[in-house]
Amino acid sequence: MSEFEQKVLKLLEEINSKLDKILKAESTVGSTASTVSVSSTPSTTVKPSAVVEKQEEEAKLEEKPPVEGRRVCPECGGTAFNAVEDKTQVLHQMGGVKIYAKKYVCRSCGHEM
Ligand SMILES: [Zn+2]
Repeated sequence: MSEFEQKVLKLLEEINSKLDKILKAESTVGSTASTVSVSSTPSTTVKPSAVVEKQEEEAKLEEKPPVEGRRVCPECGGTAFNAVEDKTQVLHQMGGVKIYAKKYVCRSCGHEM
């Protein structure tokens, strides 16, 4: 067996044991949850870290600002905008080339944001 294969095997075993721990932790949570009331159980210490991390990841996704194209005009509620360069706001200047900030002009009412 090559050194590489041995390393991979070792990694797989480590992952396996970690998975076992998580599964065991989850099964204990499940069995105690039915007997112990939820309010008296500190959920943050009982949860396996992997589950907590996943939940935090999902929370971050929800906090994300709306993606481009889902902009809504505060004046008329329109969602169609023209992206134009705001020449009053220079973001960056290098070798005589100016990079301007972008602003969005509502196609319905002309509101700039
Ligand atoms: Zn508008």
